[in-house]
Amino acid sequence: MKSYKIALIKGDGIGPEIIDEATKVLDAVASACELHFEYEELLMGGIAYDITGNPLPQETITKSLTSDAVLFGAIGGQKWDTLDRELRPESGLLRFRKELGVYANLRPAVVYEELINASSLKPEIIKGVDIMVVRELIGGIYFGEPKGRTKDKGWNTMVYTREEIVRIAHQAFRIAQTRDKRVVSIDKANVLDVSQLWRDVVTEISEQYPDVELTHMYVDNAAMQLVLNPKQFDVMLTGNIFGDILSDEASMLCGSIGLLPSASVGEKIGVYEPIHGSAPDIAGQGIANPIATISSASMMLRYALGEKEAANKIDNAIKRALKEGYRTQDLAQFDAKEVCSTSEMGSIIANYTTK
Ligand code: NAD
Repeated sequence: MKSYKIALIKGDGIGPEIIDEATKVLDAVASACELHFEYEELLMGGIAYDITGNPLPQETITKSLTSDAVLFGAIGGQKWDTLDRELRPESGLLRFRKELGVYANLRPAVVYEELINASSLKPEIIKGVDIMVVRELIGGIYFGEPKGRTKDKGWNTMVYTREEIVRIAHQAFRIAQTRDKRVVSIDKANVLDVSQLWRDVVTEISEQYPDVELTHMYVDNAAMQLVLNPKQFDVMLTGNIFGDILSDEASMLCGSIGLLPSASVGEKIGVYEPIHGSAPDIAGQGIANPIATISSASMMLRYALGEKEAANKIDNAIKRALKEGYRTQDLAQFDAKEVCSTSEMGSIIANYTTK
């Protein structure tokens, strides 16, 4: 029996509810595939601030780095919004990603056939959409210096180095090789010098991947094309802020932000997390959709642990639950046969992984 050490960061808001469902499903698939998961809960976000005075305790970094993978819920909430910026949960998350060196955020946006009516776009536009957004995660404007503010002025700086662009470009091309072999690199090279560097370096790296087709697109056009004709995209390669925005837009092609998983990977460790936040508006009500987190656990099995069979079991169980008409509240109006709670959805998926 193979055993894996998983760092669990539940965080704030709906974080604990959705992580509990993901571990329920992991434990079910573990018994079906003769695996064992040893979980270690670590503090981060608002809850970490409340308990330790620090949104990212050092122990969380150290123990994450010695685990096989990190499964992450979500952090943040109004309660902590008035703290000094460096004490806020979101600053903890940015520092966490930087400390772990997870520079590549992979966000698949796949439309479930069963939820074809859940998108705000027409079914014929979204049927068959299968996009992988490869977003640079620890550079760009969220980290660039100088930054600051006075009473009447605020400023941030978008900086990318050649090295940062090279490594994320390699990721995108390697992923494209396992898919439809097309990369669209998104930038704003018509206005920003940093984007022109991005475009030049991506073009240079593409020469090492002659089997992959590279095109470039300005970010404003990409935002438009994503709703006009999303099927044109295979891999979308973007910087940090553009990827943040475009991947949320892509999520709505799929019906609910509660469906989409992500993986943040680097040389040392991977962090697997839903793309949504801590949803304080629905926290504690048992109505959050746990599928994005369960699906992130599946990505963890596939990419960090190499347990493809177990990952496939989870993916199939999610599809089966949706096909049979089980829906959480966010998708209740879309062909639901039964509206279920967060925990019921977790149990249904867990049950299907073993059948
Ligand atoms: P959010 O993603 O938390 O919520 C946006 C909307 O989507 C809300 O109406 C929410 O109810 C809904 N939603 C989100 N996840 C859902 C789910 N699983 N099931 C059903 N509905 C779901 O974004 P927000 O409201 O802008 O941010 C709330 C807090 O989360 C903020 O403090 C923000 O900083 C933080 N945040 C954290 C992360 C993270 O931890 N990675 C990411 C984004 C935002």
